[in-house]
Amino acid sequence: MEKKEILKKYFGYDTFREGQEELIDALLGKKDVFGIMPTGAGKSLCYQVPALMLDGITLVVSPLISLMKDQVGTLNQAGVHAAYLNSSLSAGQYRRALELAGEGRYKMIYVAPERLLTEEFLRFALQADISMVTVDEAHCVSQWGQDFRPSYLKIAEFIRALPARPVVAAFTATATREVKEDVVAALDLQNPVMVTTGFDRKNLFYKVSTPKDKFAEVMAYLTEHPTESGIIYCLARKTVEEVCERLRARGIAATRYHAGLSDAERRKNQDDFLYDVSPVMVATNAFGMGIDKSNVRFVIHYNMPKNIESYYQEAGRAGRDGEEANCILLYAPQDVRLNQFLIERETENDTFTGEERALILERDKERLKQMAYYCVTNECLRDFVLRYFGEYTTNYCGKCSNCLTEFEDIDVTETARAIVECVKDSRQRFGMTVITDTLRGSQSAKLRQNGMALSKCFGRLSAVPVYRIRQVMQFLSNNGYVLVTDDSYPVVKLTEKSAEVFGDTLVLMKAAKEQKAKTQASGRNAGNAKEALPDTDYGLFEELRKLRLEIARAEQVPPYIVFSDKSLRDMSAKKPRNRTEFLGVNGVGENKCRRYGEQFLALIQKYTP
Ligand code: ADP
Ligand code: ZN
Repeated sequence: MEKKEILKKYFGYDTFREGQEELIDALLGKKDVFGIMPTGAGKSLCYQVPALMLDGITLVVSPLISLMKDQVGTLNQAGVHAAYLNSSLSAGQYRRALELAGEGRYKMIYVAPERLLTEEFLRFALQADISMVTVDEAHCVSQWGQDFRPSYLKIAEFIRALPARPVVAAFTATATREVKEDVVAALDLQNPVMVTTGFDRKNLFYKVSTPKDKFAEVMAYLTEHPTESGIIYCLARKTVEEVCERLRARGIAATRYHAGLSDAERRKNQDDFLYDVSPVMVATNAFGMGIDKSNVRFVIHYNMPKNIESYYQEAGRAGRDGEEANCILLYAPQDVRLNQFLIERETENDTFTGEERALILERDKERLKQMAYYCVTNECLRDFVLRYFGEYTTNYCGKCSNCLTEFEDIDVTETARAIVECVKDSRQRFGMTVITDTLRGSQSAKLRQNGMALSKCFGRLSAVPVYRIRQVMQFLSNNGYVLVTDDSYPVVKLTEKSAEVFGDTLVLMKAAKEQKAKTQASGRNAGNAKEALPDTDYGLFEELRKLRLEIARAEQVPPYIVFSDKSLRDMSAKKPRNRTEFLGVNGVGENKCRRYGEQFLALIQKYTP
């Protein structure tokens, strides 16, 4: 069978995505490959398709038990014989699986790296016909990466021990130069065909918002998107508990995950999320490695994470099925300080020399700064992130909160002058609040005590709203017209540039047009099934979801393994009437058609006039 036929028959797709074909062809030509593709790009198919076409067995080395289970589940659903070998199996189960493998029952075997060189596994591997070894999450072999796993260093040794060298495929979503070099060297790849696809995730909508009340914003989102599954990331365990509890109190089926919970609770909560029993997961960044749930429709960051790398990885867990999804970051200026604290604590725990520690600290602080820029920039958010990863695109994506917000230049010269004068008049002794209160002319005991009630600036901006004064002061500080000190009691000071506000050129500040920004933020959000389908089809989509859930419960697999959201949506739009038409639905291969065709067709018929 040809690769296109395999794609259709087993996976139900008509076309390959960027990079897939090149990698598949190389593997079929027995050339080593190294695929560097972002999460959700479709790395698995790059080795699964050739695995079905090569004569022998494909071994897939993977570090994560949950991921293996998921992949094997998906393959079995597609009618491919696959198994996994890891510590989640009992000794008896493990031996039985190896026996079946020895009899050649499996086309693909997922194995944990630490098993490779065990006597039992080697005995099997040395007599088996192994055509390909695939290394998933290949960056784990690199000591530069955050996820270094010593057991990955044994992979090359294992491959050398085999009687005939199989073709080797490596995949990762990490693209830094050091990691790339390490992977090629440590896995001993032979002139690999390297394919790096763009890091842009076109189906993700990015939004940054600075709400007064973060929880209220989360509730508003969940109320507007009641059927969606998603993750809410918080920085601290305490916040996870708090947010989760408050959501539950409001009737949201939320669950939680952080490193302070027992293993048993973590496992249960994770399953509840995967199986859509609790579609909303509130978690620290401990959650998500190896989570392959394809129908995650939103990732909300309740706090700003410590760097863009983490943000992109966590946000990237949304929309792996290629359907629209939302990535929303709720920013508050305190998040910066909280991260600073965490970064300092992190480096303290490690056994670095003073010099190393200083270097790491500096690097982490620079990364944090970039992350904070992301939260306050007026530029295209997608472009900002891609540039951070060294990819240059247009600076307008039309699909992020900044691109959809209309900005205007407002003349803030008068306000700026008043602020600078007030800072001068305060003899640079006070913080933003005192300056603002003075300019507003607040009747407070504090201003009487510190003398600012008598300042010539007192009440000079009584007609300007407080938020605007603060906004302009922030703008002046961002652009060096004033300096807000870093102390525990931050004070506003003058700079060399302060006098420029009295010059001939106007002081112009970019700000969101007020009304527009609001409606676009909530109304034009991508990622809502309801918006993509006419109302009638949406009713059918909901019914199909229910059927999928019933089947998933009966078969004890996560719903997205039965059919992805994308398949269901395509079904509700195409309304297939028979098996042939059903096979035309995105993601429906022969096996799934045989297994579920009848049930879904019957339901669709009931809904079609
Ligand atoms: P990665 O491992 O790169 O993060 P996956 O291999 O899990 O991504 O693939 C992400 C999703 O994209 C899966 O649901 C997969 O079935 C789907 N997919 C992969 N290749 C294609 C394709 N050629 N056409 C349509 N969907 C695809
Ligand atoms: Zn944009």
